[in-house]
Amino acid sequence: MYDAIVDHIFELFERFGSESYGENATQLQHALQVAELACRHGCSAELIAAALLHDVGQLLDDAGNAAERRGIDAHHEVSGATFLGKHFSAGVTEPVRLHVAAKRYLCAVEPSYLDTLSDASRLSLHYQGGPMSALEIGAFEATAFSDNAVKLRRFDDSGKQSERYPPGLAAYQDLLKGLAIR
Ligand code: FE
Repeated sequence: MYDAIVDHIFELFERFGSESYGENATQLQHALQVAELACRHGCSAELIAAALLHDVGQLLDDAGNAAERRGIDAHHEVSGATFLGKHFSAGVTEPVRLHVAAKRYLCAVEPSYLDTLSDASRLSLHYQGGPMSALEIGAFEATAFSDNAVKLRRFDDSGKQSERYPPGLAAYQDLLKGLAIR
């Protein structure tokens, strides 16, 4: 059990969690809603942690977050996965790293999916490369944890409700501490 990283993550949410997620919810509210959906769907502890932390890259680099709000792709999924990769296994970090690719994947394989995206998410799709090509689809499906990235993506899209305040971060402290590897 390695507690320092969990304390660090909690500090990030404390400092930046009240910032707007760029839609109708705050960063913390969004993270908690997405994690709650993963819990309710009976996901593994690793996927619940990934759901909670999938946008942590936006908390690490506020400049990047601001850029994304202006429609420039700052690759928060990569910075987040790299940060988490020092402390968590691939079962946590890969769904985080792949959650933007999963959106491009779903847009390509499920035409109706595009209609379910928020305005901000549809705008960023353009900067993220648009729907995947047939070649990219094959490569994505062959990537480990891409199935969990797709699950996470659907929770991500549903966790943007301005009026919903799920149980707080403290509920995830033991789960995160149990998963931290260094
Ligand atoms: Fe998100």
